[in-house]
Amino acid sequence: MAATYEVNRQAERTETDGIHQRLLGWFASNRRDLPWRHTRDPYCVLVSEIMLQQTQVDRVVPKYLAFLEQFPTLQALAEAPTAEVIRAWAGLGYNRRAVNLQRTARAVLAEHGGQFPREVAALRALPGVGPYTSGAVACFAFEQDVAFLDTNIRRVVQRLFVGPEERGLATERALVALAAQAVPPGQGWLWNQAIMELGALVCTAATPACWRCPLQRDCAAYNTRRQSDEQLFDAALAESPRPVRKIAEKREAPYANSNRFFRGRLVDALRALPTGQSLPLDALGPQIKPEYSPADAAWLRQIATRLAADGLIELDGDLARLPI
Ligand code: SF4
Repeated sequence: MAATYEVNRQAERTETDGIHQRLLGWFASNRRDLPWRHTRDPYCVLVSEIMLQQTQVDRVVPKYLAFLEQFPTLQALAEAPTAEVIRAWAGLGYNRRAVNLQRTARAVLAEHGGQFPREVAALRALPGVGPYTSGAVACFAFEQDVAFLDTNIRRVVQRLFVGPEERGLATERALVALAAQAVPPGQGWLWNQAIMELGALVCTAATPACWRCPLQRDCAAYNTRRQSDEQLFDAALAESPRPVRKIAEKREAPYANSNRFFRGRLVDALRALPTGQSLPLDALGPQIKPEYSPADAAWLRQIATRLAADGLIELDGDLARLPI
């Protein structure tokens, strides 16, 4: 029995070594040259991770560089007027991230003398830092072998070790445990970058390109994916852009006219004002919604009140402005 166990353990190790070699080999020749991959400064890593959470890499790169030029250090960000930080965030969306990022910077300055803690638990205790961000900073700034899940890693781990999503999703806890087992000792930085890159470039949500995936032979989802994979391969050969375009249209539809859309528009309208200047809500209404009428006043106040609660604007009676 013990011998069988040893044999199985050996087989598992060999299998895992194979996965490491294949993925890291693929990453070495396919990795994108992204500015945050050249730094281990926890402040820069934090900025990049917060920006990347809900925004595409191509849009993040110029904003990341411009943001660090404007706020080159943690202290510069912590001491800046919040209105300036929200202005610098223009074009990235999800403005709340800007306010949370500054809160984190202020907490590191006030509670840790400007030095980021290295441990995941201490990072996690900072305001605006969740399980993903704490793991990412511990790994990408301090090169620790920690596991964490973003949408790309979660998807790859699910497919690679569990199977296709349509056959059942593993729990978050199970996926973190599988992700942790997969981290090669001493190579956490490289491994987590590689698995994220695979999720971004190959094992994508709607159209995984299994035909060019380095982990085909290891993947629990590959057999199921093969059929759609072959169709994708044919489409790639025919250079048909149709499937991608369909998905993009599908995703964009719900955003327009959602409350999130109008929250963004309200912040955009205030960004256009000189620092410290306010606008009454009834003047803001028509700027963010062309068909605005007095009947929308309660709806607009609700949006403004929530933005104020999130620290994105200040409300003084009917007057709204960016926080100073
Ligand atoms: S074989 Fe396909 S499903 Fe599996 S990890 Fe690669 S791209 Fe993803």
